[in-house]
Amino acid sequence: MLPYFTEVFGNADSLHSFGRESHQAVTRARNKIAQLIGAKPSEIYFTSGGTESDNWALKGLAQAKGKHIITSAIEHPAIRETLKELKKQGVKVTVLPVTTDGVVIPESLENVIDESVSLVSIMFANNEVGTIQPIKQLAAIARKRKVAFHTDAVQAVGNLKVDVAELGVDMMSFSAHKFYGPKGIGVLYCRSGLRLEKLIIGGHQERTMRGGTTNVPLAVGMAEAMELAINELEKNTKYIAGLRDYFIKQVEENIPFVRLNGNRLNRVAGNANFSFEFIEGESILMSLDLAGIACSTGSACSSGSLDPSHVLLAMGVPIEIAHGSIRFSFGRENTKEDADYVVQTLIGIEKQKMYNDRVIEEFKNPNNVGEMPDADGVGTVGNASCGDIMKIYLKVEDNIIKDVKFQTFGCAAAIATSSLATTLIKGKTIDEALKVTNKQVVEGLGGLPAQKIHCSVLAEEAIKAAIDDYQSKKK
Ligand SMILES: *Cc1c(COP(=O)(O)O)cnc(C)c1O
Repeated sequence: MLPYFTEVFGNADSLHSFGRESHQAVTRARNKIAQLIGAKPSEIYFTSGGTESDNWALKGLAQAKGKHIITSAIEHPAIRETLKELKKQGVKVTVLPVTTDGVVIPESLENVIDESVSLVSIMFANNEVGTIQPIKQLAAIARKRKVAFHTDAVQAVGNLKVDVAELGVDMMSFSAHKFYGPKGIGVLYCRSGLRLEKLIIGGHQERTMRGGTTNVPLAVGMAEAMELAINELEKNTKYIAGLRDYFIKQVEENIPFVRLNGNRLNRVAGNANFSFEFIEGESILMSLDLAGIACSTGSACSSGSLDPSHVLLAMGVPIEIAHGSIRFSFGRENTKEDADYVVQTLIGIEKQKMYNDRVIEEFKNPNNVGEMPDADGVGTVGNASCGDIMKIYLKVEDNIIKDVKFQTFGCAAAIATSSLATTLIKGKTIDEALKVTNKQVVEGLGGLPAQKIHCSVLAEEAIKAAIDDYQSKKK
């Protein structure tokens, strides 16, 4: 890339000789990329990345033809959010479900596709759990109906063998930085003959289809990175998948209450996505970051929005568990020592953050769970935006709490504290129950992780709210 930042600075679309040299470099890059995916150079459009390619495929075709798009429930935001926007403009969107393994069953497409459909867009490999879709079968179903098929292959190109002719797709997005190339450049492959409208309007670059001066160094870098990735695909995939499988095994052997999300085998090489049943994803993420380990979570609770991964939810992972999910990605420069270091760090985090056996016991076998239709007092507290809701019902006779039930929606700590708090007040007088504190609940559970103390406060508040309700009804 370096010469194209300095010596070869000509505009690739100019007619002068400075420009010609740049133009030749872009042509070589385009040819190389086309050849690597089995396309013609004239079918390769450089864009600013996967996001633009996805936007273009959906908007370009939605405008060009028909008004009904079929997609999957696990797409990247570049697809999801674009479709949300198109929906506002009147485009009909049908979302196909996935299996618990995160796979779209071809029959589900067969069942909904009809003449009204203008485009099917289903991702090749998922960015969170790495599962690979049966693109060839899905594309064949669309082709049979003469419906255009687009795939977001950003996670696939450079990681899997991808040949557009063999797959039978009409449009495909991919991006350089996902295979060690530069950030800010991608490609939309568009089969010749397919009528696409422009997304970026301007000069006559990219055969008039995408305006804007060509970014020569990035195009050169993308082609080079792609060639390297694809030439070494088999060797790298074998090595990285081996490392990932070793890591998965170590995590499963050393960390309790962990589950692997996605199919064990049908996933891109570097991906390992785990749910830690009793620890929140964000708190693991932060501790790992302090240890120099970079990974990611689909959930964004710490930033204030309750947003567990739509991919995990679509796969049927319960909301509380989806919140404790982390994606680990391995690359060609990672080593077995790296994997061991992550496992050791996770063991340390687990010891520090994990609930003790008493809490887990109380969570797994809670007391007083249920509703009480004829309750004398009901108290509901919680923070719906953070997911914890606690509801306590009281049956009171002669100032004594004869019976108590609770319904709680939340994490293990919320359930365990509700269970213990209700046990503590059962059979007590109203005055005694009012004296039960969150500290007693925490002590009764043998302690809670610091970030879960708020659950015990919630339990104390729920008791007080239920008693308040009882007393106000009595008057
Ligand atoms: C990263 C990614 C994108 C977005 O690509 P950018 O080049 O970062 O815009 C789109 N789809 C998937 C599946 C991705 O993983």
